[in-house]
Amino acid sequence: MAYGNTNGGNRDNYRDQPREYFKAICSDCGKECEVPFKPTQGRPVYCRDCFKKHQPENRGHDRRF
Ligand SMILES: [Zn+2]
Repeated sequence: MAYGNTNGGNRDNYRDQPREYFKAICSDCGKECEVPFKPTQGRPVYCRDCFKKHQPENRGHDRRF
């Protein structure tokens, strides 16, 4: 009785969903890029490369300094 999920096949509707991309200008290098979210005015938008640069890397699991 531990297994409650007996629905059989579960289809995920998330597949085949085209992702919407928005054109934006990278705040770092100034290149035109496409982002998978709507650029907000006043907020910096980065292209893929710069996004990687600006994203803090979460390496390791020690969050305390
Ligand atoms: Zn850039």
